[in-house]
Amino acid sequence: MASPNAAGAATAPKIAYFSMEIGLESSLPTYSGGLGVLAGDTIRSAADLKVPMVAVSLLYRKGYFYQRLDAAGRQTEEAVEWNVDDFLLSRDERVTVTIEGRPVSVRCWRYDVRGAGGFLVPVFFLDTDIPENAEPDRRLTHYLYGGDSHYRLCQEVILGVAGVRMLRALGFDQIERFHMNEGHASLLTLELLAERLQADQRTQISPADIDAVHSQCVFTTHTPVVAGHDKFPVDLARQVLGDSPVFALPKVFCCDDQLNMTYLALNLSHYVNGVAKKHGEVSRHMFAPYLIDSITNGVHLATWASEPIQALFDRYIPGWRQDNFSLRYALNIPPQELWEAHQQAKRHLFQQVNRENNSGMDLDVLTVGFARRAAAYKRADLLFFDLDRLRNLAGRIGPLQIIYAGKAHPRDEGGKELIHRIFQAKEALKADIRIAYLANYDMDLSRCLTAGADLWLNTPEPPMEASGTSGMKAALNGVPSLSILDGWWIEGCIENVTGWAIGALPDAQDRSRDRQRDAGDLYDKLEQVVVPLYYQNRSGYLEIMRHAAALNGSFFNTQRMMQQYVLRAYFR
Ligand SMILES: *Cc1c(COP(=O)(O)O)cnc(C)c1O
Repeated sequence: MASPNAAGAATAPKIAYFSMEIGLESSLPTYSGGLGVLAGDTIRSAADLKVPMVAVSLLYRKGYFYQRLDAAGRQTEEAVEWNVDDFLLSRDERVTVTIEGRPVSVRCWRYDVRGAGGFLVPVFFLDTDIPENAEPDRRLTHYLYGGDSHYRLCQEVILGVAGVRMLRALGFDQIERFHMNEGHASLLTLELLAERLQADQRTQISPADIDAVHSQCVFTTHTPVVAGHDKFPVDLARQVLGDSPVFALPKVFCCDDQLNMTYLALNLSHYVNGVAKKHGEVSRHMFAPYLIDSITNGVHLATWASEPIQALFDRYIPGWRQDNFSLRYALNIPPQELWEAHQQAKRHLFQQVNRENNSGMDLDVLTVGFARRAAAYKRADLLFFDLDRLRNLAGRIGPLQIIYAGKAHPRDEGGKELIHRIFQAKEALKADIRIAYLANYDMDLSRCLTAGADLWLNTPEPPMEASGTSGMKAALNGVPSLSILDGWWIEGCIENVTGWAIGALPDAQDRSRDRQRDAGDLYDKLEQVVVPLYYQNRSGYLEIMRHAAALNGSFFNTQRMMQQYVLRAYFR
């Protein structure tokens, strides 16, 4: 294949971006949550900035899953039904990888992301569901985060090893950097080493090989949650990967009889980063003595701005799509016009909520949004710690409505229980506070919810929230956050200017987090500051809304983030 860009060879991709999930369109089910959405936003901003990039992921014919919730809030999962060729273009190239000694044939599908100036970043989805493969191998690319650790390791062989081979087969021969978006892609380093051995017909990896691969690779780690770091028993690794010269290099390859994807990437990358300042710090602690920088995540502004907000920016900040920094001029938007655009986004959200859930949401009532993966550390039920206090607050200070969404991983019983508990609170509070839980959280729902809520709530257990991005989507739409100081909010919160903090900054490691105190801080802030401001000082609330868009929209975007990757990681 020739250059993917009309401009010719000068723009042949130099950066290959590898991610287990990529969120490109809401109904293209190749993502599960924040990691995939970030990958999609990264690629969109690379296209806007004309960064010569190509991206690689897996095709999930059954998706992550379609979430159904029964009346009691019990989650069941279904395979996503979708048509690949409604979204993607099939390619003829085939590559082969060896898994457990069997050759597995891999094909790919192409999706083009077009930037604001027309520049293309192609994305390739690898697919093993082809007739020449044995049944179990055909299923290897069916489910995102499905199956056991054997299934996952096989998928990672396809992503890392077949991914590099596919890029070569597609003719991308000018790639200078390989960016591993999380450790799932670490096996690409093995293929880069193998290429060097093959080129000189050698069988042993030399220090020069390690140095060469090291200088080509970039690694972004995304979570302090231990389960988020893939590790495989060495026996399983030998079974799946077969005889590989890397097993002779335990220092690079393994730690404590395990193939540890995070350490593999750490050992073979010239640049490593966490996804917010605090997360960089936490990661340096977890992985001492590795040098770990931080580049704070962002969101793609044009993707996440609601239509009424886009129209407002178009009127007052021409060129904001090309120059995201210019969102600082949101401070010039007349407050009344921001209010009207926001109310329109809120009306749009309520149409959906009321139609699907018969919730009777009221436009005049302060509406709290909370949507993210239902995982225990995210503490979605912290708001319901003391139902009487919440009921009392809504009765005395001003009415509240709450809209929830989020999927629990199919095997995360704790996460499922969390959803069920929210349904129980919803039932207990139904005479006093309207609460809705929307099923099957996806990008469209996120767009609608982050723009249409009046207040975005986040209550994770610090320091587990590496960054968080839904609060950034809310901010650019003029929706302030009320959040625990963790992840991006440590950087984004200016108290009473861009939103509000719950509790104090987590200080020393020894201070274990107290659920009761965090809930108390949350109620205090709602009762004393946020709810009175909303109902009794609307122009004060609007000032916070404008500052959320201006100060946080102009910074927490993937355009700024991509520029930092270019300067610090890609071209240095
Ligand atoms: C933005 C987004 C997320 C990430 O939200 P966090 O605040 O980082 O948890 C997850 N899922 C979907 C569908 C999203 O659009």
